[in-house]
Formats: sequence, C-alpha cells, structure tokens
Amino acid sequence: MTHGAAHAADLMIVGGGIHGCSAAMFAARRGLDVIVIEKDTVARHASGSNAGGVRRLGRHLAEVPISQHSMQIWYGLPDLVADDCGFQVAPQIKVAETEAELDGLRKRAATLRGMGFAHEVVLERDALRAHLPAVADHVTGGLACLEDGFAQPYQTTFAIARKAKAEGARIFEGTAVAHAGGGLHSGAMALRRSGHGGQASGTLRRELLPGSGFRAQAEGGRLCAAPSPKKPDSQAEDQGSG
Ligand SMILES: Cc1cc2nc3c(=O)[nH]c(=O)nc-3n(C[C@H](O)[C@H](O)[C@H](O)COP(=O)(O)OP(=O)(O)OC[C@H]3O[C@@H](n4cnc5c(N)ncnc54)[C@H](O)[C@@H]3O)c2cc1C
Repeated sequence: MTHGAAHAADLMIVGGGIHGCSAAMFAARRGLDVIVIEKDTVARHASGSNAGGVRRLGRHLAEVPISQHSMQIWYGLPDLVADDCGFQVAPQIKVAETEAELDGLRKRAATLRGMGFAHEVVLERDALRAHLPAVADHVTGGLACLEDGFAQPYQTTFAIARKAKAEGARIFEGTAVAHAGGGLHSGAMALRRSGHGGQASGTLRRELLPGSGFRAQAEGGRLCAAPSPKKPDSQAEDQGSG
C-alpha cells in the first residue's frame, strides 16, 4: 500500500479474492475509480485454495441463468484477462446408483429444458461408461454437463487482479478493514495495516456518495476513518509518509 499518498475512489471493495478482484475489474472497465483493500495478499484465501471446479451442473434452479452467463465469461476469459487461467473443459457428472435416482436426474433435465436450458444431459447406462469406464457395475446412469471444466485458482485470481490493475483499479494488500459501520452516508470505517507492528501513516479518503464520504487518517498503528464533512474537499491530501 502506498502509505502516505492520498486516495479517493468511486468504489472501495473489501477483499482481494476472485469476487473482489473481478468486481474491481468490471467496475474499472466501466470507468469507476476503484480501490481494493486486502488484509493479506490477493488469492491468499478461498480463491487460491479450492478444487478448481468450473461447474454449472446441479446448480439451484435460481442460479442457472447466472451460471450460464458465467460460463460464457469463462470461455472468453483468455481474451478478457490475457491468460487462460488453466481452464480446461472436463465434463462434470453426477451418477445415479438406482433407477429411482436416475429418474430424478431425468426429471431435473426435463425441468431445465422447460426453462430453456439444455446444458445438463442424461447419460444412460452405456453412455455413462463411455465417460467413466471404471464406474461401479450397479450405477444406473448419470447427469452430465459436458462443457463444464476446471481452472487453476491462483492463476485465475491473479490474472483477474492483474487485469483489474491494468484497468486502473488500485489493490492494497496487507491492509485490513478493522471496522465498518454507520451506513453509506456516514461511512465510518477503520483500516489496519496487517502484519505491521509499526506506525501506519498517511491519508486515505473516499467519497461514498456525492456530498458524503469518509476520511481516513493515521492514528497510531492504524489507519482509521470517520465520517467526513458533508461536502468533502475536492482536493485529495497527502498528509503522511511511510
Ligand atoms: C478457479 C476457481 C475455482 C473454484 N472451484 C471451486 C470448487 O470446485 N468448489 C468450491 O466449493 N468452490 C470453488 N471455488 C470457490 C471458492 O471456494 C470460494 O468460494 C471463492 O473463491 C470465494 O471468493 P471470495 O472472493 O468471495 O472470497 P476469498 O477468496 O476468501 O476472498 C476474501 C478476501 O477478503 C479478505 N478479507 C477478509 N476480511 C477482510 C478485512 N476485514 N479487510 C480486508 N480484507 C479482508 C481475505 O483476506 C480474502 O483474501 C472456486 C474459485 C475459483 C477462483
């Protein structure tokens, strides 16, 4: 973090995981001035350590439209972030161990077709074994999303963070939001430099809404923010160093 520099932004995002970084990337692409505050490092937590699945199979029906849209983004990701993110197509398959379970999967596929979605397909006994030759004999069939896949979590999140920065977003690692409250208009928030015993100094200022906002300044080892005056100064200040 560039302690000592003054900052103003249209949007402050807490957390440098895939959600924070991609929100920053898309917001910055639309012209917003964006800050991401990350207490550790980008992708340090769930976004860097997971099974890597990129899955539409079995989503709650309410999630299906957004998961379809999301998959379109995955297929276009190399163009979007100049990195393939390790994405590979690999069918995701749910298996049925009984006829009754297979009937349930058929009904699910029919429901989706009724909603206009054909991405989940029923695999009858032999078709399933073409995909899973070692599956147990008693398995009756399955439901598959043949164009689902997996990706490399760190690679993906880093690539999106890089693109967010290229679009102008500023990502401050090693900085925790210690407290946020007071609602959008008061915008009280306290920031803490993570893993640093020393004194934090500098000014971070942000307008949350026109005519409101918060102002953050060094207080001992913390960057603390409090509601700024109704009409904050238009000029950002640089009040510190370090
Ligand atoms: C490629 C990929 C594949 C995936 N595959 C699977 C899968 O197969 N199965 C599955 O279950 N899930 C999967 N996921 C999802 C994953 O498990 C998480 O649900 C997801 O990454 C969460 O993202 P996030 O940004 O919300 O959270 P996180 O990655 O946890 O990011 C939150 C960030 O906020 C920061 N933070 C927290 N508090 C503060 C604070 N006070 N101040 C500042 N910063 C703070 C944290 O340090 C953290 O870095 C996948 C994710 C990716 C990227």
